Amino acid sequence: MLTVTLELQCHVCGGERFLLPMPADSEQAIHCADCRAFKCHGDDLERLMAAAGNSWRDRAERAAC
Ligand SMILES: [Zn+2]
Repeated sequence: MLTVTLELQCHVCGGERFLLPMPADSEQAIHCADCRAFKCHGDDLERLMAAAGNSWRDRAERAAC
């Protein structure tokens, strides 16, 4: 999992940090990094990434190396 700050807010606690799944993770869902509230399914990840830009993906790729 990768913790990133997104231009989104948790609907439970208002936090802006989220745990994003890596491609190898079995669970492809996004959770709030603070309260662990379920945020969205992996099906929404492409839309989320489009909204957040590619910065987190660049970091994810570096973290995976
Ligand atoms: Zn939260």
